[in-house]
Amino acid sequence: MPAGWRFDNSYARLPSLFFSRLKPEPVPSPALVILNEALAAELGLDAQALCAAEGVQVFAGNALPPGAEPLAQAYAGHQFGYFTMLGDGRAILLGEHLAPDGRRFDIQLKGSGRTPYSRGGDGRAVLGPMLREYIISEAMHGLGIPTTRSLAVVTTGEKVLRETLLPGAVLTRVAASHLRVGTFQFAAVWGSTDQLRTLADYALRRHFPEIDPEDPGRFLQLLEAVIERQAALVARWQLVGFVHGVMNTDNMTISGETIDYGPCAFMDGYDPATVFSSIDTEGRYAYGNQPRVAGWNLARFAEALLPLLDTDKEKALEKAREAVGKFPAAFTRYWLEGMRRKLGLSTEEEGDGALIDELLRLMQEHKADFTNTFRALTLGRPDLVPMTGAEGWQAWHARWQVRLDRQPSGREAARQLMKGSNPAIIPRNHRVEEALTAAVDRGDLGVLKRLLAVLEDPYAYSPDQEHYAALPPPSSQPYRTFCGT
Ligand code: AMP
Ligand code: MG
Repeated sequence: MPAGWRFDNSYARLPSLFFSRLKPEPVPSPALVILNEALAAELGLDAQALCAAEGVQVFAGNALPPGAEPLAQAYAGHQFGYFTMLGDGRAILLGEHLAPDGRRFDIQLKGSGRTPYSRGGDGRAVLGPMLREYIISEAMHGLGIPTTRSLAVVTTGEKVLRETLLPGAVLTRVAASHLRVGTFQFAAVWGSTDQLRTLADYALRRHFPEIDPEDPGRFLQLLEAVIERQAALVARWQLVGFVHGVMNTDNMTISGETIDYGPCAFMDGYDPATVFSSIDTEGRYAYGNQPRVAGWNLARFAEALLPLLDTDKEKALEKAREAVGKFPAAFTRYWLEGMRRKLGLSTEEEGDGALIDELLRLMQEHKADFTNTFRALTLGRPDLVPMTGAEGWQAWHARWQVRLDRQPSGREAARQLMKGSNPAIIPRNHRVEEALTAAVDRGDLGVLKRLLAVLEDPYAYSPDQEHYAALPPPSSQPYRTFCGT
């Protein structure tokens, strides 16, 4: 029974500078831990065949699906502000699978062994972080936020040395593409202008078919389109309290999908200074800095594109500056639209920004849980928030009620709008940890699968979600995440 793989390998037809052809490194004894059956169905793949021994050999990198032309992609990037040559150091792109609806998806194995870009690394990944990426990426998908997806996780039968010996694993990641800002930075530094143009035309064909491929101004349009998608994406992150944690330019896609679920986590109590990553000691990638960092990364993208924007250097710079300069307003537009929806506002009024700011100020002052505050407002239970007794809260709430009553669409429409905009649940850190501990330490996938099931529709407001909305018991230690490398 064939699994239904249908590969085409357009990236492999780019100039060879952009990749190194090689196969995944075989592993001793692959075992399937989890398969995403819903995603498999979307991709036109047969779940039963994927679960069978041959299917699992593919997920482990021990066998290649028909038509795959495996390679490691070259890219560079600014990591915490410093420019470095990177590339897939522990991942192999098998190629692009064509889904029955014609959509093209990168199929990538993460943790598949060393490559020419591994530097000092072992090319491997471990089970906990791969399952964590699986959970959070699927949760993002459930939230309706553009993201890479997770098709499967297998263990390899090998132990991998981190702080201790941990079970090795491979994640199969599915993405619109793995083109990154860092791919363009790589091309700008190590490629010719022709090669950079080839890459840009490739990105245009793959992600922006609406842009005329003959238009001499198409590269500026590419820049503007990526800026727009990233503004929309980062606004979505802010609206659910998602802290990416490692917004290096190699972790920013051209497609506008969220990528790289290393040290990310969702914020509990509202605080713009929220940081989870153990290595982000300066708070560069704190929640409140994400929009600014995105703008900075996009300026690096613009820089990489300069030779294509205009043959006159000054004019090219001017075009780049103007495009990047539009990012903050684009972000604010998406964010404000989203915040209005979170408060049930379908009309626009001058004072909405101030209303939102005052709410956030109160939330910060009272360390109110970000998700649960909007959940409480959605449920019509403003008494559930920690600032319920505060005078400022009563005043804010009254002001909001008056604002809602000025809308012709009425209260029920507002409630529905809020329900669709405020998740009842997010992958809470303690619930994620609980699921990972059960899976990794006890081989029990039940906890993880129940968590995934409720995260499929975070806007359901169903009784079985209550357990997942509960806050963790107070802890003396802040939650910390690690890159999992
Ligand atoms: P990341 O933090 O996952 O964005 O990875 C940054 C860079 O480090 C990328 O080039 C990765 O391929 C590389 N890398 C991360 N972990 C490993 C590893 N265990 N072995 C080799 N390269 C790695
Ligand atoms: Mg990365």
